Amino acid sequence: MKSKEEIFALLQNVTDPEVPVLSILDLGIVRDIILKTTDEIEVVITPTYSGCPAMSMIAFNIKMELVANGFKTVTVSEVLSPAWTTDWMSEEGKKKLNIYGIAPPQYTTLHHPNEIDVIVPCPLCNSADTKLISQFGSTACKALYQCNHCLEPFDYFKCH
Ligand SMILES: [Zn+2]
Repeated sequence: MKSKEEIFALLQNVTDPEVPVLSILDLGIVRDIILKTTDEIEVVITPTYSGCPAMSMIAFNIKMELVANGFKTVTVSEVLSPAWTTDWMSEEGKKKLNIYGIAPPQYTTLHHPNEIDVIVPCPLCNSADTKLISQFGSTACKALYQCNHCLEPFDYFKCH
């Protein structure tokens, strides 16, 4: 029987299809792992967005990963409460996002200034001199910014 630690190590291989550099553990969406028998398991996740198309892909990828590692029955269930917020993203995940070229969430949802006051440092040159171009970037979870220093546009993973 696999330990929870071993299963968490497997889940580290399951990534967010929208941001492939982030695992579902980096995102902080895995709520629980329930080992029912030696080859039967339930993984409980909280969706990042209700109706986010990435979630069905994530559930599928969880099943593929665990089936490939000896589980016969894999159930992925969702809990909607408490709702996922960007506060659940790991510090490691935020670093990975920045390296990937996406500015990570800059504030917690509890201490969230007005969007207009948010300073989002450029992930490419670290300049704080950036401006919001569009509230919606490549996906609804992201906003599009441009750096006034290196002039590169970049995505910002919005706090929500
Ligand atoms: Zn820059």
